[in-house]
Order: sequence, then C-alpha cells, then structure tokens
Amino acid sequence: MDKSIYERPLQMLARTFRVDGARWGHFRNLAEVPLFVDSAASRMVQLADLVAWSTFRKYELSDGRFFDPLIPLFDADGGVLHGLYHHRRMSEHCYCPACYSRGRVQPVGQA
Ligand SMILES: [Zn+2]
Repeated sequence: MDKSIYERPLQMLARTFRVDGARWGHFRNLAEVPLFVDSAASRMVQLADLVAWSTFRKYELSDGRFFDPLIPLFDADGGVLHGLYHHRRMSEHCYCPACYSRGRVQPVGQA
C-alpha cells in the first residue's frame, strides 16, 4: 500500500485480526502483514494505484477509459475473469466484465 495516514490504523487492525481473530474466527494462515511504501519509490505501487484508480472510475463514475484496456490483462479461465469481483446490490442487473463472465447479470436469486 502507498504510505498514508492509514498505515498505523491498518497495522493495528491486522495485528488485532492475527491475535483476536474476527467474526469468522481466528485466521491461521495470514500470508502477510500490510506493507507500506512510498509510491514515488516503487513502480509496482504506482501500477497498483493506477489499476485501483481505473477500477474506481469504472465502477463509481461509469468511466471505462482507463479500465477497459486492462480487462484483457486479468487472468481468466474458461471465460471467467479472476481477480475481479463485483460486490453489488442483489436487486441490480449488471453487465460489467466480472458479472458477465460469471453469468451473474441477473439480479441475484433470479435465473
Ligand atoms: Zn458487475
């Protein structure tokens, strides 16, 4: 993650998860702790920022200019995109790449 004012609260949250668990119980296999780095010093963090910003613009502002060229770069297997999941209201139709590739265009619960 890019260095920000959220570093300390997120580090404390991760520590709480590791020690106390969460509502789902204890986590036995946390792969890593949140790592913070100044994005000016890391191209990978800059790339992650770009992908996150592009995804935000696509889903929150319906602006796919920067996100749409990234779609073919997501891992896919059998036509299903991996690494992109759209958490949406159950009553909404959605034809975004994540929902469409999973056949989830209808409101949840309707076929
Ligand atoms: Zn969707």
